[in-house]
This record gives sequence, structure tokens and C-alpha cells, in this order.
Amino acid sequence: VGVPFDTGVSYRPGARFGPSHVRESSRLLRPYNPATKAHPFASQQVVDAGDIAANPFDIEEALTMIERGSRALHERAGRLITIGGDHTIALPLLRTMAAKHGPISVVHFDAHLDTWDSYFGADYTHGTPFRRASEEGLIDREGSMHVGIRGPLYSASDLDQDKSLGFEIFSTTEFDSIGIQGAIEKIHARVQNRPMYVSIDIDVLDPSHAPGTGTPEAGGLTSRELLAVIRSFGDMNIVGADVVEVAPAYDWGQITGVAASHVIYDLLSVMAPKG
Ligand code: MN
Ligand code: MN
Repeated sequence: VGVPFDTGVSYRPGARFGPSHVRESSRLLRPYNPATKAHPFASQQVVDAGDIAANPFDIEEALTMIERGSRALHERAGRLITIGGDHTIALPLLRTMAAKHGPISVVHFDAHLDTWDSYFGADYTHGTPFRRASEEGLIDREGSMHVGIRGPLYSASDLDQDKSLGFEIFSTTEFDSIGIQGAIEKIHARVQNRPMYVSIDIDVLDPSHAPGTGTPEAGGLTSRELLAVIRSFGDMNIVGADVVEVAPAYDWGQITGVAASHVIYDLLSVMAPKG
């Protein structure tokens, strides 16, 4: 399902057009995924459920609408992949997931922590969803992790505050030293067999792989690295996922849209029944 909402952004706007852009960029995907040996659209029922409308003038009202819409779909579908929209939407989506599964492991791919407290006094923004989710008891504090963190912070204390909210930080610097296989082992060791929600901010990718986003940071993952990590999730208990922050006005030749559509394709492939 798409959520064309970007009222929570702090820098470049435009992620409200993400869902239609990712759909348009998905046209070259084919039915068989050799990397995971999956037929993601044949071995399970996959539906494009359209978009959830969200009030662009009132963030808290939008959160309510997204929670209500995602809950109704989640009850019918069992599992949900959401295309954003800015990262604010992860909060109502996690409310929906936790209502069914209890506190869940969040594996959050992003250049940014998104656990800041507020911006200009605003509690609900694209930089704060995981702090609010932790405060609301939606996340499993033993099994959650940020992956791909990099770039400048406001202060060194940002990192300590984040730890107290229940996340382990896995930076691109560490990714450089342990590589893809090390990254896969690290995520599996943290999450184990807990119910897992995968939240992917497309800015986890390097701007050369995803220029079309709101807050780009140099030195990110390649799309090949991100896809390799996602393809390792076949034995994990994924209950839902989102891919957010695709802002097509800054994209070139669908670079970002194609990356996002392949990320979703590989998520669908690892969620497919085995055998
Ligand atoms: Mn980000
Ligand atoms: Mn984010």
C-alpha cells in the first residue's frame, strides 16, 4: 500500500509522490527472482492495495488515518509492505504491527537515527518516529537495530540517547570493516526469531544510488549491498516493512525509483513461502 504523505519532512519535500514513482519504476520487474529462488507473485497472493489517504494539513490527524487504514489492511492481509511517504509514517505502521504482535524487533535502514526528540517543538516528524515508537512500547528493546547510520549529528549525546531507546547502532564505518556477510550475521544475532519489522529509508543508499530523496548523506550503501542483506532475511519472521523517503523531484532516470522497487521485490521474495 502507498502512503502519499510528506508533511513531516525537515528538508526537501516531495516524498508524497513516492508511491506513484516507485510503482512506475517497477515495470521491468520479472516473475522469477533467481537470487532468492522465489516466484514472489506466484507462491503467495500479492495485491497493490492503492494508497491510504492522509491529511496533508494536520500531522496527528494523518497519523490516525494511516493507523486506521493500515490496521484494516493488516487484518485482512496478514502482512503489509508500505511505500512512503516520509518516515513519519513508520509510527502509525508500528502501532498497527504492535497491536497484533506486541513489541516487535525493528530493523531500521537509514543514514539517520530518526530518534530525535522534536524539531521546533514538533513531536511527530520524519526525524522522530522511532523515539515515539520506543516511548509507546511498540518496539522490542532487545532486538532492534539501526543499519547504515552516518553523517553529522547535532551532538555526541544523540548516540547515548538512542541507545537508551533500545536500538543498537550499526554504522557504515562498521559495515566497511565487517562487510556484507558480517552485517548479515550481526542483524541475525540481534533479531533472532522475533517478529521483525523492516523499515527502509532509501537514504541508507549512497546518493549515487538514490539521489531522489529528502535528506541525502554521502558515503552510503550501494544498492547491491542493501539487496544482499535483504536477501538474507528468508529465514526470519518478517511481519511488515516499509520503504520510505523516495522523492521523485530529485531523482534522475528513475535511479531511486528502480532501487526502491527492487528493494520491495526482494522483500516480497523473502516473505514468499519456501519450497
Ligand atoms: Mn534518513
Ligand atoms: Mn528516516
